[in-house]
Amino acid sequence: MAREFPPIRGFIENTLIDWEGKIACEVFLPTCNLRCPICHAGHLVIHPGELESIPISTVADCLGRHQGWIDGVVISGGEPTLHADLDAMIEEFRSHGAMVKLDTNGTRPEVLENLLERKLLDAISMDVKAPFDERYYQVAGCECDIDAIRRSTRIIMRSNIEYEFRTTVCPTFTGLDELRDIALAIRGAKKHILQQFRPGDCLDPAMNEVTPYPRETLRDFAAEIRDNAALCIVRGDWPGNQSVSA
Ligand code: SF4
Repeated sequence: MAREFPPIRGFIENTLIDWEGKIACEVFLPTCNLRCPICHAGHLVIHPGELESIPISTVADCLGRHQGWIDGVVISGGEPTLHADLDAMIEEFRSHGAMVKLDTNGTRPEVLENLLERKLLDAISMDVKAPFDERYYQVAGCECDIDAIRRSTRIIMRSNIEYEFRTTVCPTFTGLDELRDIALAIRGAKKHILQQFRPGDCLDPAMNEVTPYPRETLRDFAAEIRDNAALCIVRGDWPGNQSVSA
């Protein structure tokens, strides 16, 4: 019987920026269980049916054509762990010799645990959007299972694969106090990346009026919380520059 795969609603043939140190292609899966006001994937989250459906064979063809050149596939969304057949998709990509990185909001720890136990993942990038209390609901745009998200961080930190936790720093929700609390909650992590907030095309149009922090401020924040993770930098900065703003 032919295997079922999750629908693909976006595809990038190659990216150098979505898996550090790797050349990857990237697929985007529809729907999400959160409603982050600063989300830039509103079309995937709210109106996925309006997007073109891309057959998995398109990705397989790409991997075949670029064998030896493309390292792997980034599976992003939306929230990929909501799809029951995610494991089948990963196995399909792996059968073409590709490594797989999963982007997730961490709300489905049981899915992460299962994929990790079956050694189906080579890397994970997980959002840690806010401290693990009511402040999470504001950044997520809805109530969510904070304990589940916390559990995901523990599962990922116990794994022996490459991972990063990432926090998008929007002045409306996140300042140094929040970042300190987040850093303590994931204390001992291998990597905590601070990402610049980008107004424009946000799920909540009001967010488009918010002015991002200057990049230097983000670097100062990273310097303040750096002791909690082996590496804490602003996305796009070279790790060797850590001491510059410290
Ligand atoms: S978790 Fe938030 S930012 Fe990520 S896709 Fe869902 S709504 Fe968008």
